[in-house]
Amino acid sequence: MATMLGNVALTLLTVLLLQLMLAVAWRVSSRLLGLSRRASRHWIISTLLCALSVALVLARGWVPDVLGVVLSSVLAVTAVLAIRRGALAFLKQSAYDGEAILVLVAVGGAGLGCLAWSSPMAAATQVLINSTGMAWVLGRTAWQIYGPLRTEFGDGTAYMLVATFVAGVALFAARAVAGLVPGAPPLTPFPTDSPANIAAAVLMLLLTLSLHGSLVLMVMNRLVRRLRHLSQRDPLTGLFNRAEWTRQLEAHHRWLGRYGDAFGVLMVDIDHFKKINDTMGHAAGDAVLITVAQVLTASSRDVDVIGRLGGEEFGVLLPRADAITMRRTGERLRQLLSDAQTTWREQPIRVTVSVGAALCADPDETPSMLYERADRALYQAKHTGRNRTVLSRLAG
Ligand code: GH3
Ligand code: MG
Ligand code: MG
Repeated sequence: MATMLGNVALTLLTVLLLQLMLAVAWRVSSRLLGLSRRASRHWIISTLLCALSVALVLARGWVPDVLGVVLSSVLAVTAVLAIRRGALAFLKQSAYDGEAILVLVAVGGAGLGCLAWSSPMAAATQVLINSTGMAWVLGRTAWQIYGPLRTEFGDGTAYMLVATFVAGVALFAARAVAGLVPGAPPLTPFPTDSPANIAAAVLMLLLTLSLHGSLVLMVMNRLVRRLRHLSQRDPLTGLFNRAEWTRQLEAHHRWLGRYGDAFGVLMVDIDHFKKINDTMGHAAGDAVLITVAQVLTASSRDVDVIGRLGGEEFGVLLPRADAITMRRTGERLRQLLSDAQTTWREQPIRVTVSVGAALCADPDETPSMLYERADRALYQAKHTGRNRTVLSRLAG
């Protein structure tokens, strides 16, 4: 095989097979991972276009130049445009392809021009225009997706995902200018074996892998974030659920053991909540729960950890607290909640809450003992008339 096919041809054949495998992989994963159909469709189209483009390059000499040279270049650029469209669809951004048509016309026109103009410079000029077109499209893609990626995944992940597109720009820019360096060996088109072409073909293989690798990472990242959100959050209020809130309580307890930072918990329970459900319906009760969650979120600090611990019971964890802060914060939240109003079918609903507060300053008190102490304080608030805050005595 190696004697029939040169190194460049062999590497391009690997790229072709890889693209076909990627088409299958995207098809399967779009079903299994629930990936946006529009995004996966564009990425499948991209792999197929790229495979066809490489097949035409490999068939140069057997097929007319208009296919082997011109169409293959146009298809390669279109494949990258399809990757961009897919990425923008995935990130829910609108795609504007006006400039893409210009690039395609330039690449196609340059190909046709070079066919007509048979001079030693023709091949180098065509490589220059093709590579510039590819570098432009990859660069524009990086530019367009960076902002939305940053918003969704944060700085670090956005840099990482965009890096492969930037690497692609560097690769094609290097190929574009390689032919212009005085004294450099002349560039020959694919699939002729030359050191520059071998390097370019291997880099193309790596670029294919890393571009699709980036897309896979992007898809997985969103999936992991969704699953994490679902496993940590209460679907009605968006607050942490009991399991996650308890995990954070345990983490603060460990910090108390290590750094001596006392922290506190407030248990906030709506008074006579059942009555709202019974008289106005479950949906009205849900609306009240959402209002309480909003008030708690809006009036807490960033470092406070707020969770829905059960039906109409909420937990607020206050890091670095003392007894005075606990009592003040409990009272402030109680007051804000009794001032808040939920409007349900044009009817105002007001509720009061009872608050049980407990400060944890002793690492020997376990999180569940602390939880129990706050619960007892809450029970006491309920049994001494409701709509009040009771601070538990310190353990020990
Ligand atoms: P107390 O002042 O003693 O706390 O009385 P209460 O009525 O608030 O407490 P109780 O424990 O008797 O009732 C809580 C009710 O909360 C019972 C349950 O139907 C309701 N509940 C639990 N989860 C939800 C929910 O997700 N939505 C709604 N609307 N109601 C819920
Ligand atoms: Mg209640
Ligand atoms: Mg309750």
